[in-house]
Amino acid sequence: MSKNSDPERNVFLNTIKENNLKFFAFTIDLESEYAGLIDRTQNEIFKDLDKIDEVLSTLTSLDVKITVFVMGQLFELFPEVIKLMEEYHCEFEAHSYTHDYNNPDSEFEIIKAKEAYFNYFNKYPKGYRAPRGKISRQGINYLAKHGFLYDSSIFPSYFPNPFRYLFSNKDIHYFNGSGTMEIPFTSITPFRLTLSISYIKLFGVDFYLKLSKLFSLNPVICFDSHLHDFIHIESSFNMLPLYWRIPYGRNKLKGIEYCVKYIKQIKKMGYQFCYMSELYELGEKVLPSSNG
Ligand SMILES: [Zn+2]
Repeated sequence: MSKNSDPERNVFLNTIKENNLKFFAFTIDLESEYAGLIDRTQNEIFKDLDKIDEVLSTLTSLDVKITVFVMGQLFELFPEVIKLMEEYHCEFEAHSYTHDYNNPDSEFEIIKAKEAYFNYFNKYPKGYRAPRGKISRQGINYLAKHGFLYDSSIFPSYFPNPFRYLFSNKDIHYFNGSGTMEIPFTSITPFRLTLSISYIKLFGVDFYLKLSKLFSLNPVICFDSHLHDFIHIESSFNMLPLYWRIPYGRNKLKGIEYCVKYIKQIKKMGYQFCYMSELYELGEKVLPSSNG
């Protein structure tokens, strides 16, 4: 709706297309199991470092560059997981402090997330992702106030947040003309299905591969995943409410297999892997300068 979003969109997309660029940023949201749907203290998944190692090793063997959005508390609770991810050259950004759906972008969550990040790395995060993609204009203002350069929360699709972001800009843009950049998740087809491993598991990888060939994919892809998409812990799964066990139960053991299959196809299509910070830099170069 912002008056500069359309020209921005054209400038961004045209430049990317003219230069024949194709980028794929792989992201992991590191948070309590099943996004806290069981209990925000359910953290069994972080206790088996060998399994996490296996996932990271498989992904990076395909040359994928991984950006991890970390729920701040995990820096304090499971620093060994962060350490392991550092060994695989992951890039890190902030994913709130407690992953509370009621306070996805409150100033408290943003400050605490930044502090926890700083206490671990001795530097500040550049990017923020709000739990369940729930970023508000107020949240964007807090991010700017606390020195964040970009947000990556918006699903320009029907779900999550039905209709809320449906008509929002699908490309990298400055949030309503502010100085904070938005790097939205990628959706595919005119039906705007979210491109993430949870959705690929839900509908099947062959279906997603077919759609990705039939409809032209965005030349810049921000792909989402979680550790629980790759590592299945039956006891945690059984704690989910029934209506969540149905979608999460589909192809529950096939996360990594499907992901590898999809990524191999992406590589064939000429995409190069990049970190989210590289998408940010690309946006900075290509977009008309903002007022920020
Ligand atoms: Zn999350």
